Amino acid sequence: MKAISVLGSTGSIGTQTLQISEEFPEQFRVVALTAGRNLDLLVQQIQRHRPELVALANADLLPELQQRLDDLGSDQQLPQLVGGPDGLNIAASWDSADLVVTGIVGCAGLLPTLAAIRAGKDLALANKETLIAAGPVVLPELKRSGSRLLPADSEHSAIFQCLQGTPWAENARLSTGVPTPGLRRIQLTASGGAFRDWKAEDLENATVAYATSHPNWSMGRKITVDSASLMNKGLEVIEAHYLFGLDYDHIEIVIHPQSIIHSMIELDDSSVVAQLGWPDMKLPILYCLSWPSRLETPWRRLDLTEVGQLTFRSPDPAKYPCMQLAYEAGRAGGTMPAVMNAANEEAVAQFLEEKIHFLDIPVVIEAACERHKADLISHPQLEDVLAVDQWARKAVREQVQRGTTRVPLAALAA
Ligand code: NAD
Ligand code: MG
Repeated sequence: MKAISVLGSTGSIGTQTLQISEEFPEQFRVVALTAGRNLDLLVQQIQRHRPELVALANADLLPELQQRLDDLGSDQQLPQLVGGPDGLNIAASWDSADLVVTGIVGCAGLLPTLAAIRAGKDLALANKETLIAAGPVVLPELKRSGSRLLPADSEHSAIFQCLQGTPWAENARLSTGVPTPGLRRIQLTASGGAFRDWKAEDLENATVAYATSHPNWSMGRKITVDSASLMNKGLEVIEAHYLFGLDYDHIEIVIHPQSIIHSMIELDDSSVVAQLGWPDMKLPILYCLSWPSRLETPWRRLDLTEVGQLTFRSPDPAKYPCMQLAYEAGRAGGTMPAVMNAANEEAVAQFLEEKIHFLDIPVVIEAACERHKADLISHPQLEDVLAVDQWARKAVREQVQRGTTRVPLAALAA
């Protein structure tokens, strides 16, 4: 039986991980949970899963959580409760856990992820922002500790699954950023997000309500906005670079509105291998938990005659400037992806609070990246990543306070 620590248990990834654990009680048990502020759901999860440890990101809420658990009057043993950043690190490195699912959103997942790696835990990596911001810090730590990084992001899981069938599976599965021999090209598929059928000029009318409704996937709000701007795919390009070691010229994005092919690899002999399935995150999460085995599930089986057709098109760079910003940040390397990621997190937060327009998101990200060029650190340490992350958030907040000047769409297209 595999013991699992779930970071971000109340989110979309976290709740789906717990559903899997309930579906496979012989295979998995949950030993640690962490959450932000959703105490109602957390208390239910504690009752169902009986973890040994629970960490609350917001330590101020600990007394309330303790009170609610006391009020239950259960005769079953209650978990140990911890809080704050140290609490998250304790959950991430919890002794009895074999594997840590990183379902925290944003760069807030960085320190707990490092704590898990330093404790030698295997990781199911959903929290892509951590690897994107701190690839040059995370990869050497993985090498040192021998922790295995299993990708939970559906595209990277698809690539990982495709690589299992190659002679280099042994190499590929360790995902330490070393180029995978024989791997010529990666094609990441993108649904196109909420605005895929909108004309570029209509994005002037993009609202929070539209941007947070995804056509194919049900996910947290931040990643749903990232999907609408295609920043999510840009972030995934950088994630793929760090996971599989390919340079940016060999990682491509293709819009595939049906989200049935989850990504493809091209091998040296020109063969293209793809992984298919319904758009459901439970499958890539399960594969992280069961790897290298596969478990039998009763889940809905793919019927391509039901899908009818699979279509593909190139993304329009004028409509999706975030995609280009991500490639540029990835190619610049060093601290630039951390700046871009933090600027995006702050910009999306400001957009969700309706302080900026959807079209302002790439404008403020670009401004932060431009300003950082002169200060770029090519081989950053953890402190450098944390410092530029804070700097970029502040730079975006200040620009928003000053009032952003939106670039007209015609200029974006030029
Ligand atoms: P979500 O918003 O649904 O959940 C986030 C979780 O993190 C919650 O439990 C929340 O309490 C916790 N959290 C939020 N801020 C925190 C902080 N500052 N400190 C500690 N905990 C905090 O997000 P999600 O959609 O589940 O996404 C989680 C991660 O997985 C993201 O990095 C996302 O990019 C990635 N991911 C998600 C999906 C998906 O289908 N949801 C798919 C691929 C990758
Ligand atoms: Mg994805």
